[in-house]
Amino acid sequence: MKHTMDRLRNSAHWLRSVEGKNSNGVNRRQFIKILSAGAVSLALPGCVSPGEMNAGKGKEKKPNFIIIFCDDMGYGDLTCYGHPAIRTPNLDQMASQGQKWMNFYVGASVCTPSRAALLTGRLPIRSGMCSDERRVLFPDSASGLPKNEVTIAEALKAEGYATACVGKWHLGHLRQYLPTNNGFDSYFGIPYSNDMDRIGGQGRQAFLEPKTEYWNVPLMRDEKIIERPADQNTITKRYIEEAIRFIEKSKKTPFFLYLAHNLPHVPLFTSKKFKDKSLRGLYGDVIEEIDWGVGQILRALRREGLAKNTFVVFTSDNGPWLTFKEHGGSAGLLREGKGCTFEGGMREPCIMWWPGKIRPAVVNDIGSTMDIYTTILTLGGAKVPTDRVVDGLDLSPALFGTGPSPRKTMFYYRGAKLYAARKGPYKAHFITKPAYGKGKEMHHDPPLLYHLGHDPSEKYDVSKDHPEVITEIRKEVALHLAGLTPGEDQLAKRIENK
Ligand code: MG
Repeated sequence: MKHTMDRLRNSAHWLRSVEGKNSNGVNRRQFIKILSAGAVSLALPGCVSPGEMNAGKGKEKKPNFIIIFCDDMGYGDLTCYGHPAIRTPNLDQMASQGQKWMNFYVGASVCTPSRAALLTGRLPIRSGMCSDERRVLFPDSASGLPKNEVTIAEALKAEGYATACVGKWHLGHLRQYLPTNNGFDSYFGIPYSNDMDRIGGQGRQAFLEPKTEYWNVPLMRDEKIIERPADQNTITKRYIEEAIRFIEKSKKTPFFLYLAHNLPHVPLFTSKKFKDKSLRGLYGDVIEEIDWGVGQILRALRREGLAKNTFVVFTSDNGPWLTFKEHGGSAGLLREGKGCTFEGGMREPCIMWWPGKIRPAVVNDIGSTMDIYTTILTLGGAKVPTDRVVDGLDLSPALFGTGPSPRKTMFYYRGAKLYAARKGPYKAHFITKPAYGKGKEMHHDPPLLYHLGHDPSEKYDVSKDHPEVITEIRKEVALHLAGLTPGEDQLAKRIENK
């Protein structure tokens, strides 16, 4: 009886969050009918199992958080975002049970600054984790995330959370910058990109026929190197196994898991089980293995009775690396990819999952990885720093169906320069530059203006038709710049004599 009451209470909570029809097409009246028939858990997507209902007995436990972050995966690389050849059944199911965000942004179009934005909730220009001199950190970099930045892990740890970082870090490989000195209890992973420390292979051919021994990247456990070169063929599988071990070990305390895959960044590798399986070739194999891993993690949460108390976010750090052709991903119908401020560089698939809690929906509001910071801190009862500018906003209204996303604007930086800004459906490009190569910066006055609803591919400049929109966006930019104190460039610093 107690279980039945708990189930009804849980369902009533969900019902309060329903606005009109949910994604399954069940309206309020139909829902009440189902509720009274006692069939709620069978009828609703993402409902919790009886085992999960038992797990939450007694004092309400703080929610757990899992962020699954890919590297260089594009907006168009999942079946549920329109890819015709890559199969992602686990992510598709996760999206149907949770929220699929269509206008979700990262803080920068390359790895290091994007990761800094996610973990600090701040545009990387504020922390100094972006640069016009070097776009990311390298093995000869002397710096990393400044100590005074407050990471998600640090904020949650102060609230009693167990924390683990598994995978690519790329916020400083020297001891003082490692995850274990940024709020994480443990670390297992390659501390920077998987194409660094190159020691073998010929030119581009090395990437087209990659062998793991060509890249002498270290695999670390906490602060020690345990394997070098890291065997990248099994790296995704090992990250998943490590993640599941952490979930099983931490089930009695609230936890935060940051699982940052090194892939599908080139060079591409996949374990034997997935090799030559995808219609999309090696790139598809890699994504399908990541998708399998998502399924394993969600299954582990259900098995351990943790699903109804765990908020899971899946996204990527930046768009596809198009210069690697078939070895790079796809931004779908978005323009360009990694390295530039067109949509393909900074808009990412984002799936949020928390069965029984968040309102299943396809969300067209704007969100960003910086908002994940503020949302998680708020839900976890942690303090969002007030002694500095935090760019992240709390997405709870959109998650729980009580209102729209509070985000209405987005600023697009390349290095330390503001290139573009979005307000509502309109985006103005003040500066553009090709993602890679010798192409020059182009300044636009008036800025190029695109309506991202009518024209998601940024093809048709409407600046002449909408001077009033440009005025509005200029105002937002002026306000933003007036409150900006750029941090000291951390990416330009190099280890001497290296
Ligand atoms: Mg990346």
